[in-house]
Amino acid sequence: MSRWIELITLGTGGAFPGERRFTSSHVLRDWLGNIILLDSGEGVQIRLSKASIPITRINAILITHGHGDHVNGLPGLLQSMYLNSRRMPLAIVAPKDVINFIEGALILEGSNLGFEVRLLEIKGSGNMQLFNQREDKLLLYWYETCHSRESYGFVLEWNLRPRINKAEMERLGIRPGPHVGKMLFNGNKEGLLVKLDPFRIAYTGDTRPCKKVVDGIKKSDVLLHESTFSEENREEAEEFCHSTGKGAAEEAISVSAKLLILTHVSSRYEGYEAYEIEREARKLFPRSVLAWDLARFRFTI
Ligand SMILES: [Zn+2]
Ligand SMILES: [Zn+2]
Repeated sequence: MSRWIELITLGTGGAFPGERRFTSSHVLRDWLGNIILLDSGEGVQIRLSKASIPITRINAILITHGHGDHVNGLPGLLQSMYLNSRRMPLAIVAPKDVINFIEGALILEGSNLGFEVRLLEIKGSGNMQLFNQREDKLLLYWYETCHSRESYGFVLEWNLRPRINKAEMERLGIRPGPHVGKMLFNGNKEGLLVKLDPFRIAYTGDTRPCKKVVDGIKKSDVLLHESTFSEENREEAEEFCHSTGKGAAEEAISVSAKLLILTHVSSRYEGYEAYEIEREARKLFPRSVLAWDLARFRFTI
C-alpha cells in the first residue's frame, strides 16, 4: 500500500489578499484520511473548493496567531460547515487570543452548529496526538515563533509502526499468513520488521528567523517557511518580524530540511518579481521552491 502525504498551499500571500495570492492557509492530507488545515485566511473556502477538499471532512484546524490574514476566513468556514450538515467533531488548536475570537464568532452565530467544536489552547511548546490507527500516529508539536504578537509554528509528524519486510520473508522462504503475526508476537522478528523513519512537515506561520524557531522545528523533512520579503527589504522584514527568502534558507540549513517551500509573500511581489525571493533562497539552499496558491506537493513515505 502506498503511503502518501499531500500539501496544498491554498493561500500564499502576506497581509492582504490579492488576485493571485490569497492570505495564509494550507491543507495537509494523507493516505489515512486525515485532513488538517493550517491557518484560515480570508478566501479559504474558495481555495478549499478549488482544491476539491470537502469541508465536512477536515479533522483539525491549526491557527498560528491572531493576525487577520491568518484567521479571518475561519468564522465563514465554520458557518459553511454547519450549512453543509457537518456532523464530525472538529478540533481547533490555537493560542488564547484566537480561541477568544472563535468563541465570539460562535456566540454571534447564535445557534447550535450541529457538530462539536473542540477548542484546544496552546502555550509555550508542547505536543499532542491527533490520530492513532493501529500505532500509525500523527503527532502535532507546537513552538513559539519570533513575531510581533504571540505566535506559534507547528510540526506534523507521521510516526509509523514497523512494517513487515517482504523481501526478507521471501529470502527466508516464509509464506504470508497468520503464522507470521504469531512469529512476530513471539519475539522472533529478526530482520522481519522494517523500522520506518518518522516524516515531518514544519510550518512556521509568521516569524523572523530566530533560534526559538530552529529549536522548535528540530529536524524536519519539509519546511514551509514564511518569506514575506526579498533582501532588498531586509530592514522592513526585521522591523515587522518577518523573514526574507535568504533568512528562510538559513533556517532550512539549520534544521537539515530536505525541501524548503516559501510562502507568505508580500503583495508588493504580486507577479514574477516574487521569484527574486526564491533566487535568493536557492543561492544558499538549492532545494527551495516558491509556492503559489493551489500548488500541490506530494510526498511518499
Ligand atoms: Zn501574516
Ligand atoms: Zn502575523
